Amino acid sequence: MKKYIKDTISIPYQWTTGRAGSAFLTALKDDGVILAARCSSCGKRYLPPLSFCPACFRHIDEYVNAGREGEVKEFTVTRDGRVIGVIQMDGADTPWLHVILEPPEDVKVGMRVRAKLCEQRRGSITDIEGFERVK
Ligand SMILES: [Zn+2]
Repeated sequence: MKKYIKDTISIPYQWTTGRAGSAFLTALKDDGVILAARCSSCGKRYLPPLSFCPACFRHIDEYVNAGREGEVKEFTVTRDGRVIGVIQMDGADTPWLHVILEPPEDVKVGMRVRAKLCEQRRGSITDIEGFERVK
């Protein structure tokens, strides 16, 4: 007796980026700047940007340049050999995930990396091609 059916369901959707996400993607596309949201109450800088501070439950409406460099805190290698890293940007207090554009054997925790932006940006997280080692 068959207990399940294996199939695929297509679900087209749109997801709003919200105010903070929109500010982030617009700055990335138009100016090549990586923005963090800064809480005016506690000063914590969130990347990706948030519209409220989960530490003090305050609305956030200030954005700061998080810079382009940071440090690899953790990483993993996917089955197809790509490296995904947890990166702590110099201008933010929360780490984020992105692709590391180095061979897996060359990536180390604590390694300094710099964002490589695409020449043609369209307002997407993939406008950051990934992170390269700072030499
Ligand atoms: Zn706060």
